[in-house]
This record gives sequence, structure tokens and C-alpha cells, in this order.
Amino acid sequence: MEQGNKITVTTPLLPDLDEFNDLLKEIWASKWITNNGQYHQQLEEALCQYLKVPYISLFTNGTLPLLTALQALNIQGEVITTPYSFVATTHSIWWNGLTPVFVDIDPANCGIDPDRIEEAITPRTSAIMPVHCYGKPCDVQRIQQIADRHGLKVIYDAAHAFGVETDGKSILQWGDMSTLSFHATKVFNTVEGGALICHDAATKKHIDYLKNFGFENETEVVAPGINGKMDEIRSAFGLLNLAKVDAAIEHRHQVAIRYREALRDVPGIRFFDDMPEVRHNYSYFPIFVNADEYGMTRDKLYETLRQHGILGRRYFYPLISTFGDYRHLPSANPDNLPVATRIADEVICLPMHHELTHQEQQRILDIIISH
Ligand SMILES: *Cc1c(COP(=O)(O)O)cnc(C)c1O
Repeated sequence: MEQGNKITVTTPLLPDLDEFNDLLKEIWASKWITNNGQYHQQLEEALCQYLKVPYISLFTNGTLPLLTALQALNIQGEVITTPYSFVATTHSIWWNGLTPVFVDIDPANCGIDPDRIEEAITPRTSAIMPVHCYGKPCDVQRIQQIADRHGLKVIYDAAHAFGVETDGKSILQWGDMSTLSFHATKVFNTVEGGALICHDAATKKHIDYLKNFGFENETEVVAPGINGKMDEIRSAFGLLNLAKVDAAIEHRHQVAIRYREALRDVPGIRFFDDMPEVRHNYSYFPIFVNADEYGMTRDKLYETLRQHGILGRRYFYPLISTFGDYRHLPSANPDNLPVATRIADEVICLPMHHELTHQEQQRILDIIISH
């Protein structure tokens, strides 16, 4: 039975239509609509400033930077990663002809468990691809120590971590590279889009060749690149959205505060509190349902919410390691992934976005509290 209007898990941040129209007119007048135009350059510069990183390369979505990072770093053999993510993380490894090796997660942040990484390293391992799940920073220091000890590269899938900082510094400065997604469902969006963050000018140059078919100039191709270029229209859209993103994050913060206050004393419902010295982006609000203590399974609560028009999402269920060919990998065995398997059965991401109203939030909370 449907009651009231639907409440979706998120809604895209949109630029002011008149302002966007003004930029479109300029693009129309210039007739420069893609290939490193002025808005593309402006957005890269503005993002470097906002994100406090020196080098960023824009892409047309958030999956191509993952594919390109593995190419740019010439990763071979096996890549250690998490099964608790969006499928694109593992797909990028697979598309490079590499073997993903799944490692269990830490329930404290839903990121890869550093205590389990070393036992998964073999002579074929060449990289670790962790995810800052829900924008919660991974244990970056320990991951780097392990990588250094074994001579491994680290590529962070930071698709959820736009604007996240620890001790006033960008989380994107960690590892060899980090990737972002600017998909419509993310905190900051360019409709579709993404970025690859690296730490030196030569690498940025190489990445920029790789996202333009490998062209170094008109006649030379330095490597088998791909077409990952962001166009002028979406770059302009992103520039306008960037000016609105802080207010959006602050609204999300207030939503998170209200969820926590209301759910703090509900038995069987666990959620994350803020971490000290971290600037969070409140990209998601996952709750974890312990069926015994709560008196209802996660799936029953998920369906009950749906019947009331509240469209939470089970991010991340099922685990990536259960899909297609991945499930045949030895590391995909659920016995190897007990924490991820349990959490995938407990999680619901509640509606979380910059337009969620008090009334809507109360409708959601009433159902969870009075089940
Ligand atoms: C959204 C997302 C991606 C992929 O981004 P697209 O822009 O949709 O290609 C990759 N990894 C994670 C963890 C994501 O959430």
C-alpha cells in the first residue's frame, strides 16, 4: 500500500537553470563543446582548490578513472580489493585483465580490513584498491605501511569521498592515485562524470594522454588510451554545482544529526558517528539492522519502508564477490568474508540528500521506531 509521496534515497544537486543557460549561451557562441575547452580547464582548477589537491584529471564518468589508474600505474597480476562496494570497483580490475582478490572489511568503517591484507598478498600481487566506503576514510596509514613493505601501489576508489578531509588535509592525497565519481547520485555531480587524482605533473600529463586515446600530439600515440574526456556542457554544469556543494553538505549534516538523535536508543539499529578530526560529506546514511535485537529482519524493514513509499537502498548487497565470474574466485568464498557477508545482510542506506525535509525525515523515523 502506498502512502504519501515517494521519498528517494537521493536526489541530484542541480545548478540554477538561468545561470546554466547563461553558460550554455557562451558555449554556443564559442562553438567549442569538448576537447579541453575553457570550462573543462576552469572546473579542473576549481576542483583542485576545493579539494586541496594539486593535480586532477576530469573524466566522463567515475569508472574510467579506475580503469585508467590501473593502466597508468602499469598494474599486473592480482589486485587486492573489497567486495563491499559498487560493482565498478572490481569491474575495473577485471577489464584490465587482472585478478581481483577479495579481502574482508572492518565493521568500524566498512573499508578493507588492514589486518587481513597481508595474508592475501602473493608474488603476483601488485596493487591494493580500497574504497572509502560511504566517505568514511580507510585506515590510510596502515594501508600505506603494508603497501610500502611489499612494494605495492595503492589506488583509492574515493567515489564516495568528495570533500572528505582528515586533519584538515584531503583524503585524496593518500595512495598513488584516487578516483572520484560525479554521477548524478553523488554528493557533487556533473550529470555523469569523474576524476583521477595523482601527485605529480608528469603523471597528470600521462593520464591526460590516456584519457584522449593516448595522443601526445597530432601524430604520436604514447599508449593505448581510451576516450574519457569530459565535455564543456557538463564542465559548466559542474562549475555551477561546485558553488552549491558546501550548502548541500551542511544540509546533509543536519539530516545526519536528526537521524542519530532519533535512532540512538533503538535496540538493534547501529549507525556511524562522526570520526574525530574528519570533515565528513554525509554522502550516505547507512543503518545496520540486527534482526534479533530489532525484532525484524533487514529485508522486512526494507520492504515495510518501500510500502510506505520510502525507497532506501541496500548499499552494498549483494556483495560484488557473489556476482558472475567473481564468485568462482577462491577469495570470494563467504568463509573468507564473514564481516562483509554479515554487514551486506544488515545494511539499509536511508534517504539522505540536500532537499530532505523535516517532515519527510519524520515519516521515515516513525516507521523505523514504531515497527
Ligand atoms: C558511483 C561509484 C563508482 C562509479 O562511478 P560512475 O560515475 O557511476 O561510473 C565507482 N565506485 C563506487 C564506490 C561508486 O559508488
